[in-house]
Amino acid sequence: MKSIHQVDMKSKNTSPVLADPAPLTKSRLGISSNLMPCLPSMNSVTPSLPDSLFFPSNQKKPKPSKLEDVRASGWLDAMKSSSPTYRDPNKDANHAKVQGGLDTAYHSWTLMCPSALESFENIVMSARGKRIALFLDYDGTLSPIVDDPDCAFMSDMMRSVVSDVAKYFPTAIISGRCRDKVYRFVGLAELYYAGSHGMDIMGPKLAENCVTPADEQAKDVSFQPAKEFLPMIDKVFESLTECMKGIDGVKVENNKFCVSVHYRCANEESWDIIGQQVCDILQHYPQLRLCHGRKVLEIRPTIKWDKGKALEFLLDSLGLANCSDVLPIYIGDDRTDEDAFKVLRDKGDGYGILVSAVPKETRACYSLRDPSEVMGFLQRLIEWKKSCDVNNSCS
Ligand SMILES: [Mg+2]
Repeated sequence: MKSIHQVDMKSKNTSPVLADPAPLTKSRLGISSNLMPCLPSMNSVTPSLPDSLFFPSNQKKPKPSKLEDVRASGWLDAMKSSSPTYRDPNKDANHAKVQGGLDTAYHSWTLMCPSALESFENIVMSARGKRIALFLDYDGTLSPIVDDPDCAFMSDMMRSVVSDVAKYFPTAIISGRCRDKVYRFVGLAELYYAGSHGMDIMGPKLAENCVTPADEQAKDVSFQPAKEFLPMIDKVFESLTECMKGIDGVKVENNKFCVSVHYRCANEESWDIIGQQVCDILQHYPQLRLCHGRKVLEIRPTIKWDKGKALEFLLDSLGLANCSDVLPIYIGDDRTDEDAFKVLRDKGDGYGILVSAVPKETRACYSLRDPSEVMGFLQRLIEWKKSCDVNNSCS
């Protein structure tokens, strides 16, 4: 098991990904990749972290400071492409035609990224003789995407299923939310939690009378690679909260190691001023970078740490890395989850499963439409494992 000091922080994989995977539209199909670089900010004081933790300076781009610059530099485009507005077929005069087109496009996409439910037998076939380890995103994966991020509650049924699945497989939640908040949403002490895109990792909260070696190992799983950024993040949160006060529909959230500016409920006419305000503040913090999510701008430390790194850290900490008898499965819906999908794809071991009801560019191997299908997939894993244990047929 690696300790915090043994973790390889010098990977050349900078993959700072940033936008939610945009749907595959006609215009996007000609683009080889929609991965967008994180834009580090300029001028200011820096915490004393090793250089190897930071993105190379040649990735820096100047920040726009005026609305025209915001538009010209593509910030507004990035916000729009990260936040696709889907047409509601029920409100469309050509409902059947639109729905038919969507179904055809989705069906074509699943030829490349098949349904994990329909491919379930193939997945468990490759899990025979192996230990499955589960990694789950929260928003949009276990809970529905809702207008108010404070109301993204998971259902009791989902909680029960996640609790059950954790009895059979080591299970971790890896979320962009701050760890405390996602823990409050999930409410299961037996899981591992990686909050703030993996920058705040903690093992299960164990009862004091837990004394088994496995429990001791879980207690050791904690990691905060961006701890020195906390005062800076708090300052940026205060500044953003202040300057967004006058813009309707914007919510600024302090996720401990990153700040999220949600504009899901803001009029699209306000998006450019929101982008401008954010980049104006970021100009004073060169050690922070901006990332685009689904109707959210996220300000994070410019360290080489993401959900993929968190996945590697957890596998390592749990003694599951580089084991031929381990099958990691990562389920997530957002661009930030692509880093974890890439880790699994590069290892050639384990499966990434993208949660999406529309075709998207992805490095995942399989797909599920929505959280209800995620729940169905987890239930089938539980049933499969129970059946294996009864028949002694998993190995
Ligand atoms: Mg998500």
